[in-house]
Amino acid sequence: MNVYHNHDYETDEIPFDGLREECGVFGIAGSSAGPGGQAEEADSFAAAMTYMGLFSLQHRGQEACGIAVNDKGVIACRKGQGLLTEVFDDKKIGKLVGASAIGHVRYSTTGDSSVENVQPVAVGHIKGNLAIAHNGNLVNAWALRREIEMRGGIFHGTGDSEIIAYAIVEERIHSESIEEAVMKAMRRIQGAYSLLAMSPRKVIAARDPNGFRPLSIGTLDGKYIFASETCAIDAVGGVYLRDVEPGEIVVVEDGQLTSLGSGLRAQKSFCSFEFIYFSRPDSIIDGIGVDWARREMGKALARECGVPADIVVAVPDSGLSAARGYAEESGLPDTMGLVKNRYIGRTFIQPTQGAREREVRLKLNPLSANVKGKRVVLIDDSIVRGTTSARIVSALREAGATEVHLMSSAPPFLHPCYFGTDVPDRAHLIAVNHTEEELAEILGADSVSFLSHKSLSRILEGAGCPICKACFTGDYPIELPEEPDKGIFQRPIIFY
Ligand code: SF4
Repeated sequence: MNVYHNHDYETDEIPFDGLREECGVFGIAGSSAGPGGQAEEADSFAAAMTYMGLFSLQHRGQEACGIAVNDKGVIACRKGQGLLTEVFDDKKIGKLVGASAIGHVRYSTTGDSSVENVQPVAVGHIKGNLAIAHNGNLVNAWALRREIEMRGGIFHGTGDSEIIAYAIVEERIHSESIEEAVMKAMRRIQGAYSLLAMSPRKVIAARDPNGFRPLSIGTLDGKYIFASETCAIDAVGGVYLRDVEPGEIVVVEDGQLTSLGSGLRAQKSFCSFEFIYFSRPDSIIDGIGVDWARREMGKALARECGVPADIVVAVPDSGLSAARGYAEESGLPDTMGLVKNRYIGRTFIQPTQGAREREVRLKLNPLSANVKGKRVVLIDDSIVRGTTSARIVSALREAGATEVHLMSSAPPFLHPCYFGTDVPDRAHLIAVNHTEEELAEILGADSVSFLSHKSLSRILEGAGCPICKACFTGDYPIELPEEPDKGIFQRPIIFY
């Protein structure tokens, strides 16, 4: 069943010019018991911790969310569209009783935003129940789905999580254990996935062989927890242990953690944009602090692209760390020149067509007293379509800035992403076919500069994290298979 929603961001919402966050996962593995296992007297602790963990990952997805719990083999799941505070309250969390839980916050990069695509996906099969939640995009989702549908498989939604669940269940029928089924399914699915799976007795975490997306392991009150980012482990009072390795499968059963190799090997290619923008600055990835990495990017910008100026101004919030780095390296004062309205929601309705022009002032208002008469270095995390950048530059000029030099702590976006972010196609990327001088003219800035991808590699790979830079270089770390036209899977059923 695929319910069609006419969702038009261009007409109903403030047009979004940056990249959208992807998804976030959180899980906690209690002793859910079974033959030979010790059943915990369950309450809603696991669900409450998952709610808190997901709350710290809300920046990774605001469209929908869900939590599934396991109480001695019975899986209960609540999910819905909206923010965590819209989908859950104390009473609803209180009903989610179970020693283990997994949860998800969603931004749709594959599949539409309808409720059928909300995770976790929970299914029953001949050997038990299974719930899964994942972050990332498969590059062979549609080919796999066609293969399954040709055998009579049916799907409810249009996302790739259901395809992963189906592949695991198919393998489970002929496997001794759920981890063996996950291992076999990993040989069929290709692309980016950081996955949590919950069976009647186990919680399993797995990461694709390239390790595109983050997934960390921690402990809390003697239980193992998993999270897309370490900030979620901090939020529940847990202790960060390490990241799940690319291609690794981690199984927790009755409080014991076992690490298995999937046997799949690939060059690690962690998404560099996690460091530039997606992840929270207080998260640690592969032992590298995100705030540290962003400050280094700002320092490199100052060395590579520095211009005579009076102040450095960040586009809040994602430009803050890089602006601090630029200021440290250049000696210029790091100045609050833009104030962000923190209460603009996802679905702010603009009262009139003309109000769209004032959009940037609603989100970001220049602090005139600080920028008037000043030559400004303006630091943003990236320049994607350019529309918001142009409006910010114009607003700073109106507030009295004498010069505005726009700098991006990401290299120019020139290619689409197939691994779980919504980098648009080349036709919508402003850096394609334009020099920096042309961009300055288009955006109304005195100059436009980007961090070089060499510096990006030097910072992140120098710190020990091999990265994917495909959206900047076009050099994709995995071969992209021919996919069937996904339109054949989008057969909407419309309910009135
Ligand atoms: S293509 Fe870009 S956004 Fe996509 S995974 Fe690679 S670095 Fe990240």
